[in-house]
Amino acid sequence: MKTTLINKDSRMGRPSASGIFRLAQCPGSWLAESKCPPEEESEDAATGTYLHDCMEHNRTPDDPEQAELIEFCFQVEGELVENIFDEEASNLTIIREERMFAMDEDGNVIFSGKPDKVYYSPLKDIALILDYKFGRLAVDPVEQNRQLAALAVLLRYKLGSCPSTIFAGIIQPYVSRRKPQLVKFLPEHLDAAERYLRKIIADAEVPNAPLRPDEKACRYCRAKTACPAVKMALVNVTSGDLVASWEQWSPEKRREAYDLAQLAKKWAASVEAKVKADLKAELKIPGLCLTSGKKAFTVTDPAAAFNVLHELFPDRIRAAEFTAVCKVGITELDKLVHSVRKLQGIQTTVDESKKWLRKTLAGCASTKVSEGSVKEIGGGAA
Ligand code: SF4
Repeated sequence: MKTTLINKDSRMGRPSASGIFRLAQCPGSWLAESKCPPEEESEDAATGTYLHDCMEHNRTPDDPEQAELIEFCFQVEGELVENIFDEEASNLTIIREERMFAMDEDGNVIFSGKPDKVYYSPLKDIALILDYKFGRLAVDPVEQNRQLAALAVLLRYKLGSCPSTIFAGIIQPYVSRRKPQLVKFLPEHLDAAERYLRKIIADAEVPNAPLRPDEKACRYCRAKTACPAVKMALVNVTSGDLVASWEQWSPEKRREAYDLAQLAKKWAASVEAKVKADLKAELKIPGLCLTSGKKAFTVTDPAAAFNVLHELFPDRIRAAEFTAVCKVGITELDKLVHSVRKLQGIQTTVDESKKWLRKTLAGCASTKVSEGSVKEIGGGAA
């Protein structure tokens, strides 16, 4: 199997395939973001990076749920490759995490992108582009997904010629465990896609390109805390009497208000983080101070704790009294039971083990159902 080595080239200051959706929705975001410093990686983003790394280097995470996720990705990927190419894997060229560039006629970079994995059969002149997403929000359906179209355009630059067919798909295990849908690009589709992408980028580079707030577009935009369009939209929606207005609003207007509320939450979280950073750096902010963190005392060895207390109060603290005040960490118990079942040779998934455990312990546990939360139906940009 031929493997192209990872290329660590940067984006060279040009738009990337993953950001095309935002440029199409909000052309002004290109310039707006370029004025903002890079943000710290969130915990979710760090998990995504780690899982991508596991996929790239064929590593199994220690966490059983994550391990299963990676196993699922490899399994689905293997099935797709087998179905599409139906030939020896050693005949295929594999490109992993390599940044690719689309150039203009003068050799200047127009945009770039880094597909997670590409399989190419020189024999059949067919390629498969795969992108893994480890977020929990569904991305746009493949046929509308501009990132995949951009990656397909980039692949023909990389190969120096256009494969007769390029399939592309997204494996998103936190969202769906079904076989991913693939989009099929023929050379004529890619000509049209490239014209469209060049137009989006050219429109975004115009000074004073319009800012168009949209929850999906703004979600990961670095400019959101300083963006005048977001502020204006928030002012518009918050300036009236919400209770009175709500009754008058159409469902679409209510949805718009909901999206703006999500943006406002993110804005508020960013402000809070910045205030915290200022106070940590001992900058004065009127009326605010940093409290010391709360101390949390945790018993890490319940068996030893029981022995100590039972020895001191043998008649008052016995096993029954002690376990009555113990809480079982269900996440840890799930992991323990799953690993034990696997060790016993039971063919099971993390989810099946969880269900088994809940059924088995039904007589000595309780289930509480919390109030439901609002969930977005359909595609998101994550
Ligand atoms: S925050 Fe939203 S409206 Fe403002 S630049 Fe970014 S994507 Fe555009």
